[in-house]
Amino acid sequence: MKCFYHADQDAVAICKSCCRGLCRECVADVPPGVACRNRCEAEVAAINLIMARSKTAYQKTGAAHRRNAVATLICGLLFLGFGLLPVLVSRDFGAFFLVPLGCVFLLWSRFSYLSGKQICEVEPGNNPGGSSS
Ligand SMILES: [Zn+2]
Ligand SMILES: [Zn+2]
Repeated sequence: MKCFYHADQDAVAICKSCCRGLCRECVADVPPGVACRNRCEAEVAAINLIMARSKTAYQKTGAAHRRNAVATLICGLLFLGFGLLPVLVSRDFGAFFLVPLGCVFLLWSRFSYLSGKQICEVEPGNNPGGSSS
């Protein structure tokens, strides 16, 4: 691949904004990434900022899912307990309607837990033995 601006120079990097090949002369470092010098630096800085923000938003969502999973698990167990206890103790089915509600909460908890787990697994930092070619 040749530099987009200098056809006789080999490209050493690719601009993160416009994806053009860049030679040593045209590269501007905008960590984590490179930009066309005097051309795409501002764009790449903006991309980096957006990506950093979405990453933290992602982590926050994962934590929220885990918190939600714990809260719904407790609710589900409470509902099951209050629904089943009168039945077991005095054959009173008055609160039995709480049992299906409790099951719904438990399913919801499981769903939240799995969603949070999924989010953690796709985080680039937590990839065990990922492709490093
Ligand atoms: Zn560029
Ligand atoms: Zn160049």
